Amino acid sequence: MLHKSGYYFGMCFAAAEKQLYYIHKATEGWKIFFVLAVLLPTVTSLLAYYWSWNGWANHPLVRILSHHALPQSSWRAVASSINTEFRRIDKFATGAPGARVIVTDTWVMKVSTYSVYIAQQQDIHLTVTDSRQHELSPDSNTPVQFITIRVASINPHVKSFDIRLNSTEYGELREKLRAPVRNAANVVIHQTLSDIFLETFRSLVEGNLRYSLPSGQDLEPCIGCMQTSASIKLVKMCQEPNEGECQQCYCRPMWCLTCMGKWFASRQDQQHPETWLPSHVPCPTCRAQFCILDVCIVQ
Ligand SMILES: [Zn+2]
Ligand SMILES: [Zn+2]
Ligand SMILES: [Zn+2]
Repeated sequence: MLHKSGYYFGMCFAAAEKQLYYIHKATEGWKIFFVLAVLLPTVTSLLAYYWSWNGWANHPLVRILSHHALPQSSWRAVASSINTEFRRIDKFATGAPGARVIVTDTWVMKVSTYSVYIAQQQDIHLTVTDSRQHELSPDSNTPVQFITIRVASINPHVKSFDIRLNSTEYGELREKLRAPVRNAANVVIHQTLSDIFLETFRSLVEGNLRYSLPSGQDLEPCIGCMQTSASIKLVKMCQEPNEGECQQCYCRPMWCLTCMGKWFASRQDQQHPETWLPSHVPCPTCRAQFCILDVCIVQ
C-alpha cells in the first residue's frame, strides 16, 4: 500500500496536467486509485491508532470483553477466563470457521468473520425460534435439520444473537448449558437420523397415490404401536407388475405411517443414509420387497 500511495504522490509531480492535487478534478480511474492507495491505508492506520490508545481500550473486541468484567477488574481477566475454558476438551463447539459457536462452562460465544458475540451462561435466556430441514433426496447425502436458537442476555450491553446448529448436536449443547432452552415456536427437533428420516418418509408417502379400502373391510389398530388404526397398504406402484425388485404384497393394512417409516428406517445401513430413500425393504409380515413409491395411505 505504501508504495502505491508513493506512486500516487509521485504522479502529482510527474503528471501535473492530470490535476491529481485536486482530487475532485481527477478522472474516475485516478479517483478510485486515490481511495485505494491513499485514503484506505490512512483510515485503517488512524483506526488502529485509535484502538491502541489506553492499552487497546477502544478496540471493539476489548469493549465487548469489558462488558463482562467484574467491578475492579478488567477485560484482561475476562479474556483469560475465556482462554482457559476454551482449552478444555469438554467445550461445545460447532459451525463452519466463518460462523463458529462455542459454549464453555461460563461463556456462550459466536464468532463470525466480522463479529464476535459473547454472553455469560448465567445471564442468558435461550429460545428455539426456527428449524430448517434439508430434504433427504436420492442424490444428496445425509439428511439434516438445522435449528436456530436465540440467545438473549439480561446484561443490557450484550445484544441478542442467533446460533445455528445441526439438530443432532442439540443434546450435546443442552448438556453444556445450565439454562433451560425454551421452545417458543414448538419446533420439533429431530435428534437422531431416524427422526429426520421419518419426517422425509412421511412427506414423500403423502405424495403417493392413495389406496381405497374395499367396502366391508374395516381398519384394525396398527400392530406396531396399537395407538392408532392401521393406515398403510403396500401396493406395487413403482414399476410394471413383473419388472424390478419390488413385489406385490397381499397383506391387509396392518401398520400406521409412523410404524412403517420406523420399520423402513430400521432395515437400512445406518452408516450410509444416502442409500435409504432408493432402497428396497421387505414387508414386515409377508417379506415381499417394497420401496417408498409403493407405500400407499388408505383412504
Ligand atoms: Zn403404528
Ligand atoms: Zn405384506
Ligand atoms: Zn417398488
